[in-house]
Amino acid sequence: MNAPAPKPWIMAIAPYVPGRATTDDGRKAAKLSSNENPLGTSPKAREAFMAHAGDLERYPDAGATIVREAIAEKFGLDPARIIYGNGSDEVLHLAAGAFAGPDDEVIYVRYGFAVYEIATRRVGATPVIAPDKDYATDVDAILAAVTDRTRIVFVANPNNPTGTFAPRSEIARLHAGLPGHVLLVLDQAYAEYIDAADDDGGMELAKTATNVLVTRTFSKIHGLAAERIGWGYAHPDIVTAMHRIRLPFSITIAGQHAAVAALGDQAFVDHTREHNKRWRAWFAGEIAKLGNAGLRAIPSEANFVLVVFEGALTAETAYKGLMDAGFIVRWLPGQGLAQGLRITIGTEEETRGVAAALRALATA
Ligand code: PMP
Repeated sequence: MNAPAPKPWIMAIAPYVPGRATTDDGRKAAKLSSNENPLGTSPKAREAFMAHAGDLERYPDAGATIVREAIAEKFGLDPARIIYGNGSDEVLHLAAGAFAGPDDEVIYVRYGFAVYEIATRRVGATPVIAPDKDYATDVDAILAAVTDRTRIVFVANPNNPTGTFAPRSEIARLHAGLPGHVLLVLDQAYAEYIDAADDDGGMELAKTATNVLVTRTFSKIHGLAAERIGWGYAHPDIVTAMHRIRLPFSITIAGQHAAVAALGDQAFVDHTREHNKRWRAWFAGEIAKLGNAGLRAIPSEANFVLVVFEGALTAETAYKGLMDAGFIVRWLPGQGLAQGLRITIGTEEETRGVAAALRALATA
């Protein structure tokens, strides 16, 4: 049959599998599978969104001017160096689209964020996987993987799905070891949850370096996942290249207003951060008590914890058992992580509930 042939590198892509919202048998359950904000959305952002929800007939401002200006003011940045997109997912795709292609290599860590592989293969580039160090980013392994063909290094910091964090000194070492033609993408989707207060996650580096892109999102701490608003910061030459291939109207009008209001609601951000810090520590402590059963919480600086199963109870059995108990978490065998479950820190009730359900499974 004569039919359109998808490019072979596209056929190598396994489509992104989102976190689920219902159980196998269709029950609604606590959704701890997508690292969303369990406390909801900033009330100010919701109000701004609602005020513009009826603005439907005109295209949004393609330059997302109010969002860029609010970001610039809040973080002391140059608005001309800000790129934005339909979630930071789009920004990651823009980086790959502008800086990598066939015959090029793109490095990321084993247990890296799933979109890196999709964005890399989409442009025909070759993924190169750097081994982890007990689930954490290993700068030496990344540097050892660099070749003449390397064009991009993606590092999520904190990393998803492991929650691990590389401090500023390690990121500086990585940057110093990379050739200048390699774009270092520091994916900061979970930046606001980092405990080390003086660690800006690479923003200072992006202000001065010519080969660093920092990406951020409104989906996590601001609780605006549905509106799809992400942004990045880099040297003007990098941003200009990415603008060439950007979707023209990637952020809705109501979304732009919601984002501006969200940036202005520091109280909501602080409250979310404190909630997450408290219950992340509590949850990790509960997992530590199940060490005899082979459960281990990987140290996390994000809004989720990766629990690995090294005893009789497998991650797959625990995944199914949690679902039966009304908790949907993330099991990622497709990403080579069949031995772990990534569990979002939920409300107090959800966090206590999922810990109790895990205990019941581990001690059965
Ligand atoms: N980077 C990382 C590390 C993530 O975990 C996510 C969300 N799953 C994203 C980027 C993309 O988030 P968004 O497109 O909602 O901004």
